[in-house]
Amino acid sequence: MTQEPQYGAGLWHFAQYVDRYATDGYGPPVTTLEAIDLAGKVGDLAVVDITYPFNPPGLPVSQVAEALERNSLRAIGITPEIYTREFCRGAFTNPDPGVRARTFDLVSAAVGVARELGCDYVKLWPGQDGHDYPFQVDHGQVWSYAVTGLRALAQAHPDMKFAIEYKPREPRVSMFFSSAAKTLLAIGDMDVPNVGILLDFGHSLYGGESPAEAARLIHSRGLLYGIDVNDNFRGWDDDLVVGSVHLVETLEFFYTLRECGWDGIWQLDQFPFREDSVEAARAGIETMRSIHRALDLLDVTALRQAQDGQDALAANRVARQAIMSCQPSVGGL
Ligand code: FE
Ligand code: FE
Repeated sequence: MTQEPQYGAGLWHFAQYVDRYATDGYGPPVTTLEAIDLAGKVGDLAVVDITYPFNPPGLPVSQVAEALERNSLRAIGITPEIYTREFCRGAFTNPDPGVRARTFDLVSAAVGVARELGCDYVKLWPGQDGHDYPFQVDHGQVWSYAVTGLRALAQAHPDMKFAIEYKPREPRVSMFFSSAAKTLLAIGDMDVPNVGILLDFGHSLYGGESPAEAARLIHSRGLLYGIDVNDNFRGWDDDLVVGSVHLVETLEFFYTLRECGWDGIWQLDQFPFREDSVEAARAGIETMRSIHRALDLLDVTALRQAQDGQDALAANRVARQAIMSCQPSVGGL
């Protein structure tokens, strides 16, 4: 069997969820330290991605570092919250220069925390950058704000990598960093060596992409800094447990990453609104382990032969056989 990957999770997997209906939250509030302890309970996580400011906001970085250590976890990334009320008209593309300046400051503060915790990158999820209505924005101006804002950060912190996580919509009706191709074009315009992409499988799915194709495209530019995995019904970012709906496409995604030689961490970005967060993470990891076994079993020669002739039925048979034979026998493995 090939070397098993390391698994990770966004720390928000273990947080309290609030939406526009259950405004009192699904479950009780969870502090950053409590969420780290819950992540530690999963048992198979090596890394977490932590949102910043912490909860509570004054929590010293040293206490976060201690909590990570006692749970044998490492912080892979820091995600500054550039999508809260203050940024509701955008972070990088906000029409108010004062808010754009605060975006720079908040992300820079996150860089400081990421350095202290030894993270691989600062993750940027510009959920509020975009628009909701036709004629609401000047698209050229928004492009320019996004490119210059991110370039300034990348140049101010050349020792840090910035991973943009694109998503088609929500909370904005149309998000600026909406697809792999558009994000790559914007990164090209930034012309800096330290901005790349965190590819969220679910965002790609519901954006109408093939996640495997998006992975190949981003990797071909050397810009695949990280991945998030989850699942959805393609109409929304449901953040369901990995493989629960699109198992074949999940297998194709991980097959493509293996083909590319990408050996990063397989990270969960699930939102278990009504499920136990520790059990949901274990379920996601169990599925990812099965996928990893399936990749070892997959008949690559037969698949290549099928792909050479675009033989859909033969290719699907190879994928199906790998999935159906990858479950360990009872009591085995
Ligand atoms: Fe994500
Ligand atoms: Fe998401």
